[in-house]
Amino acid sequence: MAYDFDLFVIGGGSGGVRAARIAAESGAKVGLAEEYRMGGTCVIRGCVPKKLMVYASGYAKDFKTAEGFGWSADNIRYDHNKCMTAIANEVTRLSGLYMKGQKNAGVEVFEARAEFVDAHTLVLKPSGKTITAEKILIAVGGAPWAPEDADLPGVERTISSNDIFDLRELPDHIVLVGGGYIAVEFAHVFAGLGAETTLIYRKDKVLRGFDEDVRDHVQQGLIDAGVNVLTNAVPARIEASGSEAQPHRITLGSGETLDASVIMMATGRTPYTNGLGCEKAGVALDANGAVIVDEYSKTNVGNIWAVGDVTDRVQLTPVAIREGHAFADTEFHGRPWAFDHTDIPTAVFTQPEVGTCGLSEADARAEHGALDIYKTSFGPMKNAISGGTSKVFMKLVVRQSDERVLGVHVVSPDAAEMIQTAGIAIKMGATKQDFDRTCALHPSIAEELVTMRQKASSD
Ligand code: NDP
Repeated sequence: MAYDFDLFVIGGGSGGVRAARIAAESGAKVGLAEEYRMGGTCVIRGCVPKKLMVYASGYAKDFKTAEGFGWSADNIRYDHNKCMTAIANEVTRLSGLYMKGQKNAGVEVFEARAEFVDAHTLVLKPSGKTITAEKILIAVGGAPWAPEDADLPGVERTISSNDIFDLRELPDHIVLVGGGYIAVEFAHVFAGLGAETTLIYRKDKVLRGFDEDVRDHVQQGLIDAGVNVLTNAVPARIEASGSEAQPHRITLGSGETLDASVIMMATGRTPYTNGLGCEKAGVALDANGAVIVDEYSKTNVGNIWAVGDVTDRVQLTPVAIREGHAFADTEFHGRPWAFDHTDIPTAVFTQPEVGTCGLSEADARAEHGALDIYKTSFGPMKNAISGGTSKVFMKLVVRQSDERVLGVHVVSPDAAEMIQTAGIAIKMGATKQDFDRTCALHPSIAEELVTMRQKASSD
């Protein structure tokens, strides 16, 4: 049977556009549908605008630091509207580039929502046009998740991380609910920009899943940055407060109340398969709505694949890109490969940043047994003159039997930059001796990664 397309991609985010471009380069006829704006979560309402906000908020500290070095920074003012307008313009520029990249690659882009009719047929909405494709890639990403009104009455008064970029006024008091990447990053952003900031987390320590020492360091860092951190706390209901500046009143499970100008739920993201019609194509989903795939991103249906956040493997942009690339190479260029989901470097853009690659101490111990742990904490050189008090933290998790470095964890300015490079060493299977025989680069913070001597524990 002749299909309209050799490949049709649903979703113009990081994974979808990479797969579409690589497939089109093989000469395949490729179509792609995006219902909102090209670029997906990362470009439109995630990594890119968030990182720009992180830069914006960092200046507050930089101005203070500069004073120690002889600069006078008087009359410092911040205009949130100006900043967010500049960020929105950059997002529009990048989205345009994504569109151009697809068109240049020969991909036919439909600004429409696509839903399955059957395993080879999609309907484009709102036009109602149907198209057929030999192969289909689901790359629709994820969406913010928040409790329902039944579980959190008044939840409609809250916003999600999608909406945070639309705020044109700096809130008097912002409350962030959650203790994951998004909550801790935005807590630093808003505290840095000068808003009163509260983080409400249901357990005792943020960043569950990260190394315990990192979690301790980040939690203390939030407090040091002036964030009001409420742990073992959950919002029970949200109502009107009657105040204009802080119109929302949150009542916690403990009965304590607090008023807020803006409440952002950062309680996780969920695969965006609702209404996609996967059942009509016979595509199997897990209990959370994630598309179930094998290591080649293939679903249970022979001609349908899925990549990125919709598969709920690792919700990170570069992972979606690699998965999309591997799919297109495998299916359209005769170069089969599967993305290896181990040892993925990741950063949390707190201030200072967290950079981590490989296993936490607890996971390494569970998987590999006896370990040597090297860790250090120190004030960076800049503190000496700036009067800064924040501490850098570094940790190497090393397998005792062969000295292989299983995990590197850094909390430091530029930790993201460091961990990208350290990730190469980890991926290559570097040992502690390899780190030791690498000459230090002085003066730098990163040099401590190759000079750590102190074994903190060993069993
Ligand atoms: P996370 O899954 O990281 O964190 C969700 C947080 O919400 C957790 O602290 C969780 O608590 C808490 N939570 C969940 N349900 C409830 C509830 N019903 N009531 C109260 N608290 C709740 O999600 P995020 O939304 O922060 O981020 C989503 C994903 O996006 C991340 O996992 C990451 O993969 C990606 N991301 C990556 C970034 C980066 O690379 N820098 C930046 C931003 C996002 P508990 O810990 O107890 O489960």
